[in-house]
Amino acid sequence: MTAKKKNDGHAPSRGMYYNSGNGASLVPIDIGHKQYMGLIDPDTAFWSLVKKNKLGEVLDDSKFIKAYGKKAESFAKEMHKLRFELNLSAVYFNPTERCNLNCKYCYIPETMRKKGKDMKKADMFKALTKLRSYFRKIMPKGRLPQIIFHGAEPMINREAMFGAIEKFQDDFRFGVQTNGTLLDDEAIEFLTSTGTGIGLSLDAPTPKIANKTRTTWEGDGVFENTLKMIDKLRGYKGYNVICTVTKENMAHLPKLVDFFHGLEIPAIMMNILRCTLPRSRNLRPDDHKVATHFFAALDRTHELYKKTGRKMVVANFANILVSILAPTARRLMCDISPCGGGRAFFALAPDGGMFPCSEFIGLPEFKGGNLFTDNIDKVLKTEAFRKVTERKVEDIDPCNRCAIRHFCGSPCPAEAHEMNGGMDKTGAFCEFYEEQVRYAFRLIAERKEADFLWDEWDKDTQTTFDASMLS
Ligand code: SF4
Ligand code: SF4
Repeated sequence: MTAKKKNDGHAPSRGMYYNSGNGASLVPIDIGHKQYMGLIDPDTAFWSLVKKNKLGEVLDDSKFIKAYGKKAESFAKEMHKLRFELNLSAVYFNPTERCNLNCKYCYIPETMRKKGKDMKKADMFKALTKLRSYFRKIMPKGRLPQIIFHGAEPMINREAMFGAIEKFQDDFRFGVQTNGTLLDDEAIEFLTSTGTGIGLSLDAPTPKIANKTRTTWEGDGVFENTLKMIDKLRGYKGYNVICTVTKENMAHLPKLVDFFHGLEIPAIMMNILRCTLPRSRNLRPDDHKVATHFFAALDRTHELYKKTGRKMVVANFANILVSILAPTARRLMCDISPCGGGRAFFALAPDGGMFPCSEFIGLPEFKGGNLFTDNIDKVLKTEAFRKVTERKVEDIDPCNRCAIRHFCGSPCPAEAHEMNGGMDKTGAFCEFYEEQVRYAFRLIAERKEADFLWDEWDKDTQTTFDASMLS
Protein backbone atom coordinates (compact mmCIF):
# COMPACT_ATOMS: atom_id res chain seq x y z
CA MET A 1 0.00 0.00 0.00
CA THR A 2 1.34 3.38 -0.91
CA ALA A 3 -1.07 5.99 0.48
CA LYS A 4 1.40 8.64 1.54
CA LYS A 5 0.44 11.30 4.01
CA LYS A 6 2.89 13.84 5.28
CA ASN A 7 4.37 12.84 8.58
CA ASP A 8 3.15 15.58 10.91
CA GLY A 9 5.92 14.85 13.38
CA HIS A 10 3.76 13.30 16.07
CA ALA A 11 4.59 9.71 15.20
CA PRO A 12 7.51 8.29 13.28
CA SER A 13 5.36 6.84 10.53
CA ARG A 14 5.47 7.82 6.89
CA GLY A 15 1.84 6.83 6.44
CA MET A 16 2.54 4.05 4.02
CA TYR A 17 -0.41 1.89 5.01
CA TYR A 18 -4.05 2.77 5.51
CA ASN A 19 -5.58 2.50 8.98
CA SER A 20 -2.24 2.34 10.80
CA GLY A 21 0.41 4.87 11.77
CA ASN A 22 0.02 8.13 9.86
CA GLY A 23 -1.70 6.33 7.01
CA ALA A 24 -5.10 7.32 5.70
CA SER A 25 -8.13 6.09 7.60
CA LEU A 26 -10.53 4.27 5.32
CA VAL A 27 -13.59 3.11 7.16
CA PRO A 28 -16.31 0.97 5.59
CA ILE A 29 -19.87 1.97 6.50
CA ASP A 30 -23.18 0.26 6.00
CA ILE A 31 -25.44 2.54 3.95
CA GLY A 32 -28.39 0.13 3.88
CA HIS A 33 -28.01 -0.55 0.16
CA LYS A 34 -28.34 -3.97 -1.47
CA GLN A 35 -25.10 -3.74 -3.44
CA TYR A 36 -22.98 -0.89 -2.13
CA MET A 37 -21.28 0.19 1.03
CA GLY A 38 -19.43 3.40 1.75
CA LEU A 39 -15.70 3.73 2.26
CA ILE A 40 -14.88 6.98 4.04
CA ASP A 41 -11.87 8.79 5.38
CA PRO A 42 -13.50 10.46 8.40
CA ASP A 43 -10.76 13.10 8.66
CA THR A 44 -10.94 14.46 5.14
CA ALA A 45 -14.53 13.46 4.19
CA PHE A 46 -13.19 11.61 1.15
CA TRP A 47 -15.56 8.78 0.24
CA SER A 48 -16.19 6.14 -2.32
CA LEU A 49 -19.05 3.73 -2.88
CA VAL A 50 -17.82 0.19 -3.17
CA LYS A 51 -19.62 -3.00 -4.16
CA LYS A 52 -19.95 -5.09 -1.03
CA ASN A 53 -18.32 -8.14 -2.53
CA LYS A 54 -15.42 -6.06 -3.88
CA LEU A 55 -14.36 -4.34 -0.66
CA GLY A 56 -11.35 -6.57 -0.13
CA GLU A 57 -10.27 -6.09 -3.71
CA VAL A 58 -10.58 -2.31 -3.50
CA LEU A 59 -8.58 -2.10 -0.29
CA ASP A 60 -5.97 -4.32 -1.82
CA ASP A 61 -5.86 -2.29 -5.01
CA SER A 62 -2.75 -0.15 -4.98
CA LYS A 63 -4.19 2.08 -7.75
CA PHE A 64 -7.17 3.06 -5.64
CA ILE A 65 -5.07 3.70 -2.56
CA LYS A 66 -2.53 5.63 -4.64
CA ALA A 67 -5.24 7.74 -6.26
CA TYR A 68 -6.62 8.59 -2.84
CA GLY A 69 -3.14 9.26 -1.51
CA LYS A 70 -2.72 11.94 -4.19
CA LYS A 71 -5.98 13.62 -3.26
CA ALA A 72 -5.82 13.27 0.52
CA GLU A 73 -3.87 16.43 1.12
CA SER A 74 -6.11 18.67 -0.99
CA PHE A 75 -9.20 17.15 0.64
CA ALA A 76 -7.74 17.83 4.06
CA LYS A 77 -6.90 21.43 3.11
CA GLU A 78 -10.36 22.07 1.73
CA MET A 79 -11.96 20.70 4.84
CA HIS A 80 -9.68 22.75 7.07
CA LYS A 81 -10.56 25.91 5.19
CA LEU A 82 -14.25 25.26 5.53
CA ARG A 83 -14.00 24.38 9.19
CA PHE A 84 -11.59 26.99 10.47
CA GLU A 85 -10.93 29.76 7.96
CA LEU A 86 -14.29 31.20 6.99
CA ASN A 87 -15.01 34.86 7.48
CA LEU A 88 -18.22 36.31 8.77
CA SER A 89 -20.68 36.90 5.92
CA ALA A 90 -24.12 37.24 7.50
CA VAL A 91 -25.99 38.56 10.51
CA TYR A 92 -29.28 37.31 11.93
CA PHE A 93 -30.77 40.63 12.89
CA ASN A 94 -33.56 40.61 15.47
CA PRO A 95 -35.35 43.96 15.20
CA THR A 96 -37.63 43.05 18.11
CA GLU A 97 -37.82 40.58 20.96
CA ARG A 98 -41.59 40.48 20.72
CA CYS A 99 -43.79 38.02 18.88
CA ASN A 100 -47.53 37.89 18.28
CA LEU A 101 -47.44 34.08 18.31
CA ASN A 102 -46.63 31.53 20.99
CA CYS A 103 -45.24 28.57 19.05
CA LYS A 104 -44.60 25.56 21.26
CA TYR A 105 -40.98 25.08 20.19
CA CYS A 106 -39.76 28.67 20.17
CA TYR A 107 -36.23 29.15 21.52
CA ILE A 108 -36.91 32.70 22.73
CA PRO A 109 -38.11 32.86 26.35
CA GLU A 110 -41.77 33.76 26.87
CA THR A 111 -41.15 36.96 28.84
CA MET A 112 -39.03 38.35 25.99
CA ARG A 113 -41.63 37.50 23.38
CA LYS A 114 -44.42 39.05 25.47
CA LYS A 115 -42.79 42.17 26.86
CA GLY A 116 -39.46 42.52 25.11
CA LYS A 117 -37.86 45.50 23.39
CA ASP A 118 -37.87 46.74 19.80
CA MET A 119 -34.83 48.27 18.15
CA LYS A 120 -35.33 51.96 17.34
CA LYS A 121 -35.04 52.98 13.69
CA ALA A 122 -32.07 55.25 14.39
CA ASP A 123 -30.28 52.40 16.18
CA MET A 124 -31.03 50.06 13.32
CA PHE A 125 -29.40 52.50 10.89
CA LYS A 126 -26.45 52.86 13.25
CA ALA A 127 -26.05 49.08 13.50
CA LEU A 128 -26.19 48.63 9.73
CA THR A 129 -23.72 51.46 9.16
CA LYS A 130 -21.23 49.78 11.49
CA LEU A 131 -21.81 46.37 9.88
CA ARG A 132 -21.38 47.83 6.40
CA SER A 133 -17.95 49.24 7.27
CA TYR A 134 -16.94 45.96 8.88
CA PHE A 135 -18.02 43.80 5.95
CA ARG A 136 -16.41 46.13 3.41
CA LYS A 137 -13.10 45.31 5.02
CA ILE A 138 -13.48 41.54 5.01
CA MET A 139 -15.76 40.54 2.11
CA PRO A 140 -14.34 39.78 -1.34
CA LYS A 141 -15.20 42.37 -4.00
CA GLY A 142 -18.51 41.71 -5.72
CA ARG A 143 -20.04 39.77 -2.81
CA LEU A 144 -22.59 41.34 -0.52
CA PRO A 145 -23.07 40.27 3.09
CA GLN A 146 -26.48 39.09 4.18
CA ILE A 147 -28.81 40.54 6.76
CA ILE A 148 -31.63 38.21 7.70
CA PHE A 149 -34.30 39.86 9.83
CA HIS A 150 -35.22 37.15 12.22
CA GLY A 151 -37.35 36.62 15.26
CA ALA A 152 -39.29 36.72 17.42
CA GLU A 153 -41.50 38.35 14.73
CA PRO A 154 -39.58 41.03 12.79
CA MET A 155 -42.74 42.43 11.16
CA ILE A 156 -43.69 43.85 14.59
CA ASN A 157 -41.00 46.45 13.90
CA ARG A 158 -42.00 46.85 10.26
CA GLU A 159 -41.46 50.56 9.80
CA ALA A 160 -37.86 50.54 11.02
CA MET A 161 -37.06 47.32 9.15
CA PHE A 162 -38.48 48.51 5.82
CA GLY A 163 -36.70 51.85 6.25
CA ALA A 164 -33.43 49.96 6.73
CA ILE A 165 -33.98 47.75 3.67
CA GLU A 166 -34.63 50.85 1.58
CA LYS A 167 -31.64 52.78 2.84
CA PHE A 168 -29.09 49.94 2.73
CA GLN A 169 -30.36 48.23 -0.42
CA ASP A 170 -26.99 48.45 -2.19
CA ASP A 171 -24.95 47.28 0.78
CA PHE A 172 -26.54 44.00 1.84
CA ARG A 173 -28.67 41.18 0.58
CA PHE A 174 -31.75 41.20 2.79
CA GLY A 175 -34.04 38.44 3.92
CA VAL A 176 -36.86 38.25 6.42
CA GLN A 177 -38.01 35.19 8.33
CA THR A 178 -41.62 35.83 9.33
CA ASN A 179 -44.65 33.96 10.61
CA GLY A 180 -46.57 35.80 7.87
CA THR A 181 -49.45 36.97 10.06
CA LEU A 182 -48.54 40.65 9.78
CA LEU A 183 -47.82 40.70 6.07
CA ASP A 184 -50.29 42.61 3.91
CA ASP A 185 -50.39 43.48 0.21
CA GLU A 186 -48.30 46.59 0.70
CA ALA A 187 -45.64 44.68 2.65
CA ILE A 188 -45.50 41.93 0.04
CA GLU A 189 -45.17 44.52 -2.72
CA PHE A 190 -42.33 46.21 -0.84
CA LEU A 191 -40.43 43.01 -0.05
CA THR A 192 -40.77 41.46 -3.50
CA SER A 193 -39.92 44.68 -5.33
CA THR A 194 -36.75 45.08 -3.26
CA GLY A 195 -35.79 41.43 -3.93
CA THR A 196 -35.88 40.64 -0.22
CA GLY A 197 -35.82 36.91 0.55
CA ILE A 198 -38.91 35.80 2.45
CA GLY A 199 -39.11 32.75 4.69
CA LEU A 200 -42.54 31.69 5.97
CA SER A 201 -43.36 28.93 8.44
CA LEU A 202 -46.01 26.26 8.13
CA ASP A 203 -45.83 22.84 9.81
CA ALA A 204 -48.64 20.77 8.30
CA PRO A 205 -51.11 20.53 5.41
CA THR A 206 -54.18 20.84 7.65
CA PRO A 207 -55.13 23.38 10.32
CA LYS A 208 -55.78 20.58 12.81
CA ILE A 209 -52.13 19.51 12.82
CA ALA A 210 -50.51 22.86 12.02
CA ASN A 211 -52.32 24.55 14.89
CA LYS A 212 -50.94 22.07 17.39
CA THR A 213 -47.60 23.88 17.38
CA ARG A 214 -48.14 27.36 15.92
CA THR A 215 -50.81 29.54 17.56
CA THR A 216 -51.45 33.03 18.88
CA TRP A 217 -51.10 33.72 22.61
CA GLU A 218 -54.85 33.11 22.86
CA GLY A 219 -54.40 29.66 21.30
CA ASP A 220 -55.94 30.47 17.89
CA GLY A 221 -54.39 28.83 14.84
CA VAL A 222 -52.81 30.82 12.00
CA PHE A 223 -52.94 28.17 9.25
CA GLU A 224 -55.37 30.02 6.94
CA ASN A 225 -53.49 33.26 7.25
CA THR A 226 -50.14 31.67 6.35
CA LEU A 227 -51.77 29.93 3.43
CA LYS A 228 -53.14 33.24 2.14
CA MET A 229 -49.61 34.68 2.18
CA ILE A 230 -48.17 31.65 0.39
CA ASP A 231 -50.78 32.12 -2.27
CA LYS A 232 -49.92 35.79 -2.68
CA LEU A 233 -46.25 34.92 -3.09
CA ARG A 234 -46.90 32.42 -5.89
CA GLY A 235 -44.41 33.07 -8.66
CA TYR A 236 -41.88 34.92 -6.47
CA LYS A 237 -38.61 33.02 -6.67
CA GLY A 238 -37.11 34.44 -3.49
CA TYR A 239 -39.23 32.74 -0.89
CA ASN A 240 -39.30 29.45 0.92
CA VAL A 241 -41.42 27.78 3.55
CA ILE A 242 -39.96 26.19 6.65
CA CYS A 243 -41.59 23.30 8.41
CA THR A 244 -40.33 22.38 11.86
CA VAL A 245 -40.52 18.62 12.24
CA THR A 246 -41.89 17.45 15.59
CA LYS A 247 -43.67 14.37 16.90
CA GLU A 248 -46.95 16.20 16.16
CA ASN A 249 -46.48 16.55 12.42
CA MET A 250 -43.91 13.91 11.40
CA ALA A 251 -46.48 11.40 10.12
CA HIS A 252 -47.92 14.09 7.84
CA LEU A 253 -44.69 15.04 6.08
CA PRO A 254 -45.42 13.17 2.81
CA LYS A 255 -48.83 14.87 2.59
CA LEU A 256 -47.18 18.19 3.38
CA VAL A 257 -44.88 17.66 0.40
CA ASP A 258 -47.90 17.17 -1.88
CA PHE A 259 -49.54 20.23 -0.40
CA PHE A 260 -46.48 22.46 -0.81
CA HIS A 261 -45.78 21.17 -4.30
CA GLY A 262 -49.37 21.97 -5.28
CA LEU A 263 -48.85 25.52 -4.02
CA GLU A 264 -45.79 25.81 -6.29
CA ILE A 265 -43.45 26.69 -3.46
CA PRO A 266 -39.94 26.82 -4.97
CA ALA A 267 -37.99 25.45 -2.00
CA ILE A 268 -38.83 24.20 1.44
CA MET A 269 -37.02 23.21 4.59
CA MET A 270 -38.05 20.34 6.82
CA ASN A 271 -35.95 21.21 9.85
CA ILE A 272 -35.87 18.81 12.71
CA LEU A 273 -36.90 20.43 15.98
CA ARG A 274 -34.17 22.02 18.09
CA CYS A 275 -34.47 20.90 21.71
CA THR A 276 -32.57 23.82 23.26
CA LEU A 277 -35.30 24.94 25.67
CA PRO A 278 -37.12 22.42 27.91
CA ARG A 279 -40.58 23.22 26.52
CA SER A 280 -39.63 22.20 22.99
CA ARG A 281 -38.45 18.80 24.25
CA ASN A 282 -42.10 17.83 24.81
CA LEU A 283 -42.37 17.72 21.02
CA ARG A 284 -39.24 15.66 20.45
CA PRO A 285 -39.83 12.83 17.95
CA ASP A 286 -38.21 9.42 18.11
CA ASP A 287 -35.12 9.35 15.84
CA HIS A 288 -36.12 6.30 13.83
CA LYS A 289 -39.79 7.12 13.50
CA VAL A 290 -39.01 10.61 12.30
CA ALA A 291 -36.40 9.29 9.87
CA THR A 292 -38.98 6.95 8.30
CA HIS A 293 -41.46 9.78 7.74
CA PHE A 294 -38.77 12.18 6.61
CA PHE A 295 -37.52 9.77 3.94
CA ALA A 296 -41.09 9.01 2.81
CA ALA A 297 -41.48 12.76 2.29
CA LEU A 298 -38.22 12.99 0.34
CA ASP A 299 -39.29 10.01 -1.79
CA ARG A 300 -42.53 11.87 -2.46
CA THR A 301 -40.69 14.96 -3.72
CA HIS A 302 -38.95 12.66 -6.16
CA GLU A 303 -42.18 11.05 -7.37
CA LEU A 304 -43.74 14.47 -7.88
CA TYR A 305 -40.70 15.69 -9.77
CA LYS A 306 -40.82 12.69 -12.10
CA LYS A 307 -44.57 13.10 -12.59
CA THR A 308 -44.74 16.86 -13.13
CA GLY A 309 -41.22 17.88 -14.15
CA ARG A 310 -41.27 20.47 -11.36
CA LYS A 311 -38.69 20.08 -8.64
CA MET A 312 -39.28 21.20 -5.08
CA VAL A 313 -35.97 21.13 -3.27
CA VAL A 314 -35.87 20.28 0.43
CA ALA A 315 -33.01 22.64 1.13
CA ASN A 316 -31.76 21.25 4.42
CA PHE A 317 -31.52 17.74 2.97
CA ALA A 318 -30.01 19.04 -0.28
CA ASN A 319 -27.34 20.60 1.89
CA ILE A 320 -26.43 17.18 3.32
CA LEU A 321 -26.10 15.82 -0.21
CA VAL A 322 -23.91 18.75 -1.18
CA SER A 323 -21.79 18.29 1.94
CA ILE A 324 -21.00 14.80 0.60
CA LEU A 325 -20.60 15.71 -3.08
CA ALA A 326 -18.72 19.00 -2.76
CA PRO A 327 -18.22 20.15 0.85
CA THR A 328 -17.37 23.75 0.04
CA ALA A 329 -20.54 24.27 -2.00
CA ARG A 330 -22.79 23.78 1.01
CA ARG A 331 -25.15 26.65 1.78
CA LEU A 332 -26.22 25.95 5.34
CA MET A 333 -23.93 25.71 8.30
CA CYS A 334 -25.53 23.46 10.91
CA ASP A 335 -24.02 20.23 9.56
CA ILE A 336 -20.38 21.16 9.69
CA SER A 337 -18.23 21.27 12.80
CA PRO A 338 -17.66 23.84 14.15
CA CYS A 339 -21.07 25.00 12.94
CA GLY A 340 -21.52 28.43 11.39
CA GLY A 341 -22.65 30.05 14.66
CA GLY A 342 -20.27 32.81 15.71
CA ARG A 343 -17.92 32.43 12.75
CA ALA A 344 -19.92 32.51 9.46
CA PHE A 345 -22.63 34.61 11.08
CA PHE A 346 -23.84 35.88 14.44
CA ALA A 347 -27.20 36.92 15.85
CA LEU A 348 -27.94 40.47 16.89
CA ALA A 349 -30.51 41.24 19.62
CA PRO A 350 -32.56 44.48 19.57
CA ASP A 351 -30.39 46.03 22.33
CA GLY A 352 -27.24 45.40 20.27
CA GLY A 353 -26.37 42.18 22.12
CA MET A 354 -24.27 39.81 20.01
CA PHE A 355 -24.80 36.03 20.24
CA PRO A 356 -23.18 33.23 18.18
CA CYS A 357 -26.55 32.16 16.76
CA SER A 358 -30.24 32.92 17.32
CA GLU A 359 -30.46 29.61 19.22
CA PHE A 360 -28.46 31.30 22.02
CA ILE A 361 -30.43 34.53 22.25
CA GLY A 362 -32.30 33.45 25.40
CA LEU A 363 -29.07 32.36 27.12
CA PRO A 364 -27.27 35.39 28.65
CA GLU A 365 -23.95 33.57 29.21
CA PHE A 366 -23.57 33.39 25.41
CA LYS A 367 -23.73 37.15 24.94
CA GLY A 368 -20.30 38.07 23.60
CA GLY A 369 -20.70 41.86 23.60
CA ASN A 370 -22.67 44.73 22.16
CA LEU A 371 -22.51 45.91 18.56
CA PHE A 372 -23.00 49.54 19.55
CA THR A 373 -20.11 49.66 21.98
CA ASP A 374 -17.73 46.81 21.20
CA ASN A 375 -15.28 45.93 18.47
CA ILE A 376 -16.78 43.15 16.31
CA ASP A 377 -13.55 41.17 15.96
CA LYS A 378 -13.03 41.26 19.71
CA VAL A 379 -16.54 39.95 20.33
CA LEU A 380 -15.94 37.05 17.92
CA LYS A 381 -13.01 36.04 20.10
CA THR A 382 -14.79 36.22 23.46
CA GLU A 383 -15.25 33.14 25.61
CA ALA A 384 -19.01 33.27 24.89
CA PHE A 385 -18.35 32.90 21.16
CA ARG A 386 -15.38 30.57 21.43
CA LYS A 387 -17.45 28.04 23.35
CA VAL A 388 -19.38 27.62 20.11
CA THR A 389 -16.74 28.29 17.47
CA GLU A 390 -14.29 25.90 19.10
CA ARG A 391 -16.77 23.05 19.57
CA LYS A 392 -15.36 20.33 17.33
CA VAL A 393 -16.52 16.82 16.50
CA GLU A 394 -13.04 15.59 17.46
CA ASP A 395 -13.78 16.55 21.09
CA ILE A 396 -17.17 14.88 21.30
CA ASP A 397 -17.75 11.23 22.10
CA PRO A 398 -18.81 9.28 19.96
CA CYS A 399 -18.47 11.81 17.10
CA ASN A 400 -14.67 11.57 17.39
CA ARG A 401 -14.87 8.01 16.04
CA CYS A 402 -17.85 8.49 13.72
CA ALA A 403 -17.05 8.06 10.02
CA ILE A 404 -19.75 10.51 8.90
CA ARG A 405 -18.84 13.29 11.32
CA HIS A 406 -18.13 15.83 8.54
CA PHE A 407 -21.49 15.15 6.88
CA CYS A 408 -23.34 15.55 10.17
CA GLY A 409 -21.40 18.11 12.18
CA SER A 410 -23.00 16.95 15.45
CA PRO A 411 -25.55 19.74 15.75
CA CYS A 412 -26.46 21.66 17.74
CA PRO A 413 -24.16 23.26 20.32
CA ALA A 414 -27.07 25.08 21.95
CA GLU A 415 -28.91 21.78 22.38
CA ALA A 416 -25.79 19.97 23.55
CA HIS A 417 -25.14 22.63 26.17
CA GLU A 418 -28.66 23.10 27.44
CA MET A 419 -30.05 19.61 27.08
CA ASN A 420 -27.09 17.31 27.53
CA GLY A 421 -24.90 19.39 29.81
CA GLY A 422 -21.91 20.56 27.79
CA MET A 423 -20.30 21.46 24.50
CA ASP A 424 -18.51 18.11 24.48
CA LYS A 425 -21.86 16.34 24.31
CA THR A 426 -23.98 15.51 21.26
CA GLY A 427 -27.29 17.25 20.56
CA ALA A 428 -30.69 15.60 20.41
CA PHE A 429 -30.75 13.53 17.22
CA CYS A 430 -27.58 11.52 16.53
CA GLU A 431 -29.42 8.48 15.14
CA PHE A 432 -31.59 10.58 12.86
CA TYR A 433 -28.46 12.19 11.41
CA GLU A 434 -26.88 8.77 10.90
CA GLU A 435 -29.94 7.61 8.97
CA GLN A 436 -30.03 10.83 6.95
CA VAL A 437 -26.46 10.39 5.70
CA ARG A 438 -27.12 6.72 4.89
CA TYR A 439 -30.20 7.75 2.86
CA ALA A 440 -28.13 10.37 1.01
CA PHE A 441 -25.50 7.77 0.11
CA ARG A 442 -28.21 5.40 -1.13
CA LEU A 443 -29.45 8.12 -3.49
CA ILE A 444 -25.92 8.60 -4.75
CA ALA A 445 -25.56 4.83 -5.24
CA GLU A 446 -28.76 4.93 -7.31
CA ARG A 447 -27.50 8.02 -9.21
CA LYS A 448 -30.57 10.00 -8.20
CA GLU A 449 -28.83 12.79 -6.29
CA ALA A 450 -29.30 15.49 -8.95
CA ASP A 451 -33.08 15.10 -8.64
CA PHE A 452 -32.85 16.34 -5.05
CA LEU A 453 -30.57 19.31 -5.68
CA TRP A 454 -30.99 22.84 -6.95
CA ASP A 455 -30.38 23.13 -10.69
CA GLU A 456 -26.81 24.23 -11.24
CA TRP A 457 -26.06 23.56 -7.56
CA ASP A 458 -22.36 23.15 -8.42
CA LYS A 459 -22.09 26.24 -10.59
CA ASP A 460 -20.48 28.39 -7.94
CA THR A 461 -18.58 26.03 -5.70
CA GLN A 462 -16.72 29.02 -4.26
CA THR A 463 -19.86 29.91 -2.34
CA THR A 464 -18.96 28.45 0.97
CA PHE A 465 -21.87 29.97 2.77
CA ASP A 466 -25.24 31.34 1.82
CA ALA A 467 -27.46 32.02 4.75
CA SER A 468 -30.55 32.69 2.70
CA MET A 469 -32.00 29.31 3.52
CA LEU A 470 -31.08 29.11 7.14
CA SER A 471 -33.99 28.84 9.52
S1 SF4 B 1 -26.00 24.07 14.81
FE1 SF4 B 1 -27.25 25.29 16.24
S2 SF4 B 1 -25.91 26.98 16.94
FE2 SF4 B 1 -24.99 26.07 15.09
S3 SF4 B 1 -25.75 27.31 13.38
FE3 SF4 B 1 -27.14 25.54 13.59
S4 SF4 B 1 -28.80 26.30 14.95
FE4 SF4 B 1 -27.05 27.72 15.17
S1 SF4 C 1 -23.99 13.22 16.19
FE1 SF4 C 1 -23.93 11.01 15.71
S2 SF4 C 1 -23.98 10.89 13.47
FE2 SF4 C 1 -23.40 12.98 14.03
S3 SF4 C 1 -21.16 13.00 14.04
FE3 SF4 C 1 -21.82 12.56 16.14
S4 SF4 C 1 -21.86 10.32 16.29
FE4 SF4 C 1 -21.82 10.86 14.09
